[in-house]
Amino acid sequence: MKKRQIAILGSTGSIGTQALDVIRQHPEIFEVYALTANNQVELLIEQARRFEPEIVVIANESKYIQLKEGLKDLPVKIWAGADAISQIVEEEPIDLVLAAMVGYSGLKPTIQAIKAGKAIALANKETLVIAGEWITKLALEYKTPVLPVDSEHSAIYQCLAGEENNPIDKIILTASGGPFRNFSLKQLQQVTKNEALKHPNWNMGAKVTIDSASLMNKGFEMIEAKWLFGVNPEQIQVLIHPQSIIHSMVQFKDTSIKAQLGLPDMRLPIQYALGYPKRLKSDFESLDFNKFNTLTFEQPDTTKFRNLNFAFEAIKQGGNMPCILNAANEIVVAAFLQDKIGFLEMSDIIEKAMQTMDFIALPTYEDFVETDHTTRNKVMKEMKMKK
Ligand code: MG
Repeated sequence: MKKRQIAILGSTGSIGTQALDVIRQHPEIFEVYALTANNQVELLIEQARRFEPEIVVIANESKYIQLKEGLKDLPVKIWAGADAISQIVEEEPIDLVLAAMVGYSGLKPTIQAIKAGKAIALANKETLVIAGEWITKLALEYKTPVLPVDSEHSAIYQCLAGEENNPIDKIILTASGGPFRNFSLKQLQQVTKNEALKHPNWNMGAKVTIDSASLMNKGFEMIEAKWLFGVNPEQIQVLIHPQSIIHSMVQFKDTSIKAQLGLPDMRLPIQYALGYPKRLKSDFESLDFNKFNTLTFEQPDTTKFRNLNFAFEAIKQGGNMPCILNAANEIVVAAFLQDKIGFLEMSDIIEKAMQTMDFIALPTYEDFVETDHTTRNKVMKEMKMKK
């Protein structure tokens, strides 16, 4: 059998490294064709030596020489620059592109991969947040399958298997609630980045961990679910489930609800997407109900976690508003991670950006690029003025 040729965009990040762990366990099924990283050149060299891809790309061009030096004895093509990442996805032998870059940077290569007709395993939810309508149309036009890697969306996808003719009544999107679920507003004002980076259940990258603590991640996932599964935002209920065992649920019109369960381990949804439609054997720990004998549920508190409402508001307005939301969020999360602003300030700044940026009802690709750019500049300028 021909092995499935995989390109991993963002191979040194949390999703990328866990995907390589999955690939390592199934050498008879998968082969790494391309690896790309933004900055982490040492780890990229280590990965390339181990998986021997055809192509390796480093986005940060100043690290090119170091990468070339580190792989000089291997027959591997070495490219540099963000544009190179968008180019490699078109390489003929690639069967599947795992889009695991962080934030806005994932948009362009994902568009290129869809146009090249490669199956997409989508971990970069920001792509659908920014330009979901556009991406969904493009995927239909090029008949490109988009497989979710996000654990919630993987769960929904699994619940929908065999239900092709049964419309969704409601999606119940579960959320751990993050480390600050029971904090008061006063406590939230004081929290540090180190506290925010300690997610109770999931092992993830820094950006998504902060987004989880602020519930922006769940807002983004609501938008992601809207586009992936063709539902209205009103059909998506966010439900706090602190144990992170039920990864999400789908209710059908007969009121029957299907759920997908498992321990919180990102390798499971990654493997499901890479191996789809087959379920592959794994050595992951399985769920023991003796250890998890109580599963609890509660409503999210949107007076404390306002980002969730912002996401509903952004998708209701549509156009470039989700792009504004995302760009402002990327800047405030980076500022919070540098101790420049407080936890609650992140929401204040995002709200202001949504109120003051120019709204475009029917954005083109160039409008998304422009909106992203101007929102970032404006938010950064305002943060500087406040100091
Ligand atoms: Mg998720």
